[in-house]
Amino acid sequence: MMSLSTNLNMISPFPSFAKQHKPSNTNALFNCNANKFTNSFSSKRGGSVAYKKRTFVAAHDASYQVETSRMIPLQAGPVPLSDVVVVRKKRAFWERSWTYWDVIKLAVVSGVHLLSLLAPFYFSWAAFWVFTWILYIHSLCITLSYHRNLSHRSFDMPKWLEYLFAYGGLLAVQGDPIEWVSHHRYHHKHCETQRDPHSPTQGFWFSHMNWIFDTGSILEKCGGEENVDDLVRQPFYRFLQRTIRLHLMAYALLFYFCGGMPFLVWGFVRIHINPLSWGTRAWNTPDFSKNHWSVAIFTLGEGWHNNHHAFEFSARHGLEWWQLDVTWYLIRFLEAIGLATNVKLPTESQKKRMTLV
Ligand SMILES: [Zn+2]
Ligand SMILES: [Zn+2]
Repeated sequence: MMSLSTNLNMISPFPSFAKQHKPSNTNALFNCNANKFTNSFSSKRGGSVAYKKRTFVAAHDASYQVETSRMIPLQAGPVPLSDVVVVRKKRAFWERSWTYWDVIKLAVVSGVHLLSLLAPFYFSWAAFWVFTWILYIHSLCITLSYHRNLSHRSFDMPKWLEYLFAYGGLLAVQGDPIEWVSHHRYHHKHCETQRDPHSPTQGFWFSHMNWIFDTGSILEKCGGEENVDDLVRQPFYRFLQRTIRLHLMAYALLFYFCGGMPFLVWGFVRIHINPLSWGTRAWNTPDFSKNHWSVAIFTLGEGWHNNHHAFEFSARHGLEWWQLDVTWYLIRFLEAIGLATNVKLPTESQKKRMTLV
């Protein structure tokens, strides 16, 4: 099975162990080298943003090390698929310590990816349409529930509907809501610094894949699940966290009994899309998030990544009428029939403050 990612590459069918221990001093892990910045200015978060033609890099954390392309030392290199150049401290794949759950995650994710290679051999149109609808529905559950509703609280729903969408997100095989939301809130808090759970400053493979099998790195960089108390307090989300593997196994069996191997194989095929690195910027955010229409199409509106980082609270990511945002259309529909309330949008003055100069 390939795994679906919208803008975050969350894949973890296992309960997080983040709450088992907390680092005593996360900042001590990194060497600050902020004095090397040039062509930079202070950002609102107190860090620096440096621009050089199309190359720009961002740092808004004291424990971040980065330089522009003119100053590339031996360890520097471009982030693939982007114009970002960073100096990165590599976290070795094999040389670091692996927890039991890191190994299990790697084995399962590798196994289901290998299973997805069988998809052409079990092709049937029925299986293909199952794949298409399953992918679409679970993607909506991730973007609408995990991301905009649970992570950012950009609108409210009745509990029964909130839980229903969250359950759809659980079956997307991107982890349980508590773990996903915790990682995502840390992503926004430490965006694209070395403390970002899937920081591009640590290289292409780490930011796209390896961080998933490195639970220790998130604990070290960010801490545990104390940033997601609102979900941990609710028995439903704790239940999902404890039992996620059972739900996924039951889901796989359901596919198998409904359509045999073709349904099982195609039902779990997912697509990787990471909109982080290409596109244009519309807002003065202290990171290198970008907007791109093509990514927005495939991620149901999540490709307006720069809009989102400018207005994290906004239920609408495609802020212009021409910026396709299917997730927003569904939220707007739910609002029209009274099922979505307290829908948050940026005001004109907030937009003015964030406009690029
Ligand atoms: Zn977000
Ligand atoms: Zn982001």
